[in-house]
Amino acid sequence: MKRRDFLKKAGTAAAAAAATTAAVAPKVWAQEKTYDWKMVTTWPPNLPVLQTGAERFAKRVEEATGGRIKIKVFAGGELVPPLGVFDAVSDGSVECGSGAAYYWGGKTPAAQWFTTVPFGLNAQGINAWFYSGGGLKLWEEVYAPFNLVPRPQGNTGVQMGGWFRKEMNSIADYKGLKMRIPGLGGKVIAKAGGTVVLLPGGEIFTSLERGVIDATEWVGPMHDLRMGFYKAAKYYYYPGWHEPGTCLEVIFNKKAYDALPKDLQMTLDAVAAETNMWSLSEFEAGNGAALQELISKHNVNLVRFPEPLLNDLRKLAKETMEEEADKDPTARKVHEAFKKFQEQVGTWGSASENAYYNVIADKFKLKM
Ligand code: CA
Repeated sequence: MKRRDFLKKAGTAAAAAAATTAAVAPKVWAQEKTYDWKMVTTWPPNLPVLQTGAERFAKRVEEATGGRIKIKVFAGGELVPPLGVFDAVSDGSVECGSGAAYYWGGKTPAAQWFTTVPFGLNAQGINAWFYSGGGLKLWEEVYAPFNLVPRPQGNTGVQMGGWFRKEMNSIADYKGLKMRIPGLGGKVIAKAGGTVVLLPGGEIFTSLERGVIDATEWVGPMHDLRMGFYKAAKYYYYPGWHEPGTCLEVIFNKKAYDALPKDLQMTLDAVAAETNMWSLSEFEAGNGAALQELISKHNVNLVRFPEPLLNDLRKLAKETMEEEADKDPTARKVHEAFKKFQEQVGTWGSASENAYYNVIADKFKLKM
């Protein structure tokens, strides 16, 4: 090759390289755009796994995006009231929020199915419904008219039945029972003749201790131990039929989410899914340790609800869910999809997780 030809070719290559750089440069610049977001939550400050999980989500999004998305998190009441989260994210006052869909039953009845259903799916089941059974697509449909994009962001696992000042032998014992139990579970208790009392978290212990209420549910051993309920009520009942796998949500303002480059949307989704898994693991590990402490250190009476009582509650829960589904066509659609999926995985669950737990139950000295 002659020197002049070489220079000519080299020049063309350099020009081509320069052209390529010029073509990709704006894209690189666009990807480096940063987003300063706000997140509001329904949780009290420092509430383990729930509020701390929302903060962990924000921190990991910032790390995973190299600082391209920064999310400042506000606990319930710090920026908007706890139950103002849905509206604040929906109207774009903030870009995202963390809470639980069953708080929004008043906005759209169908929302309730995306948190938990009495005698419904457990954590494994509801995750399967969301990620592999069309549940998340339905959830997106339900939230779209509100300009919201939902993602599962945590799960408490099966909760505990609650703390009772008296023994519960049959469904008749619910007559006149004053219990703090929100949501769909509360509707079932009301059907059973109980009086549902709604109290802010900070007032539950004193009300139970003084007998203003006869019973309360909260979450599971880890959170219940922290509330000190074992000092106020004698009986700790299981299982938490009313919240068998409570899903926590992160919601994004749809306009803000849609405006993000694809890779950032994917990062938000991935961190939400990872937080979902982390949260369930925290509950599983933390509840195990706390239950042991409640039994061995605080001599708590751990009692299983009698089978006939559970069967009666289950009948009332079924009626309740049908009534909720009748509230609007979307709720009916979601209810039918949920029921169908639960029937599908139910038989498999009986032959797998349930059968296995029954086999090993005696090792844990707990009546299953
Ligand atoms: Ca609860």
